[in-house]
Amino acid sequence: MLDTTWLDESSDIEEAYQLTAMLVSYKSYPGLEGPVQRAIAAWFEAEGIPVELQETEGDRPNVIVRIENGPGPVLLLNGHVDTVLEAQGWKCDPWKGQREGNMFYGLGAADMKSGVAAMMLAVRALHRRRDLWKGTLIATSVVDEEAFSIGARAIVDMGIKADACIVTEPSWDKPVIGGVGKVLVRADITGKSSHGSMPEEGINAAVEAARLVAKLDSMPLGQHPRMKSSQAVLSFHSGSDQYVITVPEKARFTINRHTVFGETDESVLAEMRELADSLNSPARFDFAIAPPYYPPWELSPDHPILGIFEKAFKIEVGKDPDYSYATFVADSNYFSSDANIPTFIFGPKGYGYHQCNESVDLSTIAGTVRVLLRFATEFMPA
Ligand SMILES: [Zn+2]
Repeated sequence: MLDTTWLDESSDIEEAYQLTAMLVSYKSYPGLEGPVQRAIAAWFEAEGIPVELQETEGDRPNVIVRIENGPGPVLLLNGHVDTVLEAQGWKCDPWKGQREGNMFYGLGAADMKSGVAAMMLAVRALHRRRDLWKGTLIATSVVDEEAFSIGARAIVDMGIKADACIVTEPSWDKPVIGGVGKVLVRADITGKSSHGSMPEEGINAAVEAARLVAKLDSMPLGQHPRMKSSQAVLSFHSGSDQYVITVPEKARFTINRHTVFGETDESVLAEMRELADSLNSPARFDFAIAPPYYPPWELSPDHPILGIFEKAFKIEVGKDPDYSYATFVADSNYFSSDANIPTFIFGPKGYGYHQCNESVDLSTIAGTVRVLLRFATEFMPA
């Protein structure tokens, strides 16, 4: 039986609140993660836990903790410290935050500084009680998840190996065990300019591009029993910003295309070309894939690590997890599909992320710590 005093001491709601509020107090838009990452590294250092900074680009280090505690499995915990930009309509200072009972409002409170706080508290508890487990514990606090995932890429590119990875993004009773991938498609349309009063002498790139966009809905997207692919036009540009009476010769649009297994950047490009060919357009269509690229990912619901997780989850939450599949992409895509680590997402309960008044239920930060500790001690038995 696990020492429940240890679990309780390691998951104090007040401490979870203090730590989350400390992380939220740093403005850490993608590109500005340096200060919060150094604060996290200093916290580990003050706790006597071995910690390193890994350079990515600019002042945007990843924080890596590695605790080697004898032979045994390797567990990787991961979170990101960057946040989306401030939305309009906050009821409090998004970086000071506001506490109301067990709810804490702040930018990044849910996505995902509370998850990083849970990871930090779990790592400290496991470092203090190394007699309770054997193996290697790695914890990574990464940058740039909301943009190009350069932080997770750097972790994967250093050749990370682990037997299980838990990304502590907000999810709570709906842990995520798979998700779509994504490619960003850029379409460049070339027509022929002419006097706007003699359009028949030109080829209007805006019109030809619009014909293709109008046909996108007829495109059959990839099918998967548990995942849903989708696509959205993100931008559309043509013509001159200045008023001139000229038929535009260039147009460009971008498509955010979510993929399922079996779809690749090549297959998406081939489908786009086929659709363009079906227009019999006089314009030229060029398609290219722009970064970032994310592969789809999935962990089998029967995987043994989920058996261990389910036991820990049930003790804490009182029911079985209701697994879900992400319709968006995250760093879990890379850990699962590129680094080949069995990966799932489990973290605190958050509300309204990527919106104003984002919040987290503080009791679930403490709950996440307890689930992580129960999982770790069974996954890496002493
Ligand atoms: Zn996130």
